[in-house]
Amino acid sequence: MTRAFVLAARPEGGPKPSDFELCHTPESAPAEGEVRVRNVFVSVDPYMRGRMTGVHTYVPPYEIGGSIDGAAVGRVVESHDERFAEGDWVVSQLGWCEAGVVAGHRLRKLDPSVAPPSTALGMLGMPGFTAWIGLVDIGRVSEGETIYVSGAAGAVGSAAAQIARLKGLRVIGSAGTAAKVEWLRSLGIEAFDYHETRPKEALADGIDAYFDNVGGVHLEAGLAALRPHGCVIACGAISRYNDLRAEPGPRNLFLMVTKRLRLQGFIVFDHNDRFPAFLAEVGPWVRSGELTYRETIVDGLENIPDAFAGLFRGDNVGKMLVRVGPDD
Ligand code: NAP
Repeated sequence: MTRAFVLAARPEGGPKPSDFELCHTPESAPAEGEVRVRNVFVSVDPYMRGRMTGVHTYVPPYEIGGSIDGAAVGRVVESHDERFAEGDWVVSQLGWCEAGVVAGHRLRKLDPSVAPPSTALGMLGMPGFTAWIGLVDIGRVSEGETIYVSGAAGAVGSAAAQIARLKGLRVIGSAGTAAKVEWLRSLGIEAFDYHETRPKEALADGIDAYFDNVGGVHLEAGLAALRPHGCVIACGAISRYNDLRAEPGPRNLFLMVTKRLRLQGFIVFDHNDRFPAFLAEVGPWVRSGELTYRETIVDGLENIPDAFAGLFRGDNVGKMLVRVGPDD
């Protein structure tokens, strides 16, 4: 038997423990071409909140009573695919569970001598890739520009802020605690705590691009601060994900017209062909230490729902992960 979470109820507002149930499920044997993987690190991500609402967007919703798939890093315990051997580190979409059987072609093997395997869920995985795609392909940002990154101490935000800085931009970043602000400042980011300083005031000098992770008042402030022909890289809107009803959009959207702004949303999965180019540029920065990363690691499979809820409380610095098993 193995343990896995299922969705017990669709969250209303913020996710709560009773929305999830930890179940025991029988283990199936891997067939030819399949691999059994034991999870070590499980990712909790803001986009999962949208999948819990039952509405089909760019990914299918989680079903009541169904498993909660998502990114995870683990080790191969039994392989019926010649590309994988026992002990290999792999990234899968096994999600919120202890272990499972996966088709080999759906796994990506990791080399732990190149980077710690957990980074495949953060700086060198989907969040870092999201930051890079947003800046390079969507925003097409340039050296000398000023960019505002909201949620700058989170997984995507801390990658976006640092990549922008490494590309020669002046970076202003917002975060929700003094400790996060201090960390960002140590990285050369002009950081402010949005509970203390209104984004509108922090951006009074003007910006050329806005990397939006938060939406709401941050988006309004970004639109107000953008210079003519500036760009909003619309990545996410975490301040709105737990809303019980849709709030009116930015009140100053007409500035898009008067300032000839560009606002482009994107979903990182559409750009998977660019993943090797991302790793080629960002991997060396991580290995040299020019690009640093933080992880907030919660221990214990049973704590996954609380770690997920913690994303909406701002509990994490850098990438939020749950360690569900030993790494040896
Ligand atoms: P994250 O930033 O590591 O974690 C969430 C953070 O959001 C929290 O730590 C908290 O930090 C902040 N937050 C929570 N509620 C907030 C609120 N009401 N107002 C302001 N800040 C709030 O998460 P992530 O994985 O990096 O994701 C960041 C954003 O990118 C999300 O909007 C996500 O949906 C989006 N995303 C988009 C794509 C894509 O393909 N477009 C892919 C991945 C992620 P503070 O302490 O600073 O408040």
